[in-house]
Amino acid sequence: MAKYTGPSCKLCRREGMPLMLKGQRCLTDKCAVKKKKYPPGLPKKNRRSKFSEYAIQLREKQKIKRSYGLLESQFRRVFEKSTRMRGVTGENMLVLLERRLDNVVYRMGFASSRMQARQLVNHRQILVNGRIVDVCSFIVTEGTEVEVKPKFKENLMIKDSIKLSKATNSAPEWVEVEFDNAKGKVLRLPARQDITENYNERLVIELYSK
Ligand code: SF4
Repeated sequence: MAKYTGPSCKLCRREGMPLMLKGQRCLTDKCAVKKKKYPPGLPKKNRRSKFSEYAIQLREKQKIKRSYGLLESQFRRVFEKSTRMRGVTGENMLVLLERRLDNVVYRMGFASSRMQARQLVNHRQILVNGRIVDVCSFIVTEGTEVEVKPKFKENLMIKDSIKLSKATNSAPEWVEVEFDNAKGKVLRLPARQDITENYNERLVIELYSK
């Protein structure tokens, strides 16, 4: 599967906000967004220029897409799916992104970034309802159980991630996590208000509706 292999911090600087792509490092003062508060490669004189309506919509789409670590075609598929669902398209889109297996592994605290979570899933270290699932786009439902493979539970990376998640109490209310067993359950489907990041999904809908 194709994936972005360039520098992660550049993406955050481009979107002007920390997208938390590097796990624990993102919480330190080394975060590039904190040090350089302007987009990469932009000459000084252009840093304050006004954005067109299209540019604002495009940036918002890129911000959400990059936060979840998707390529354009994958993100577009999620959008198309959300248009076929009942309810508000923008909210459906964000909820679908939240329900992806890689995101759930990240939200449960078994990985310190979505990138790390994707690696765990791709490397067959995650069980869903007791069976290995290596598809990051797998969509969880209410009652789905997600667990790190028993042999991998003692891995240092997993332990560090769980320790951080425990300390910051970052698991959302829609999941229940047994940190000591590296195991969790989806209690209910996430709702728009469960997503605390500053996303304006309406701009994405406007962009794709052109
Ligand atoms: Fe983004 Fe993390 Fe790099 Fe900060 S440290 S710029 S949040 S990837």
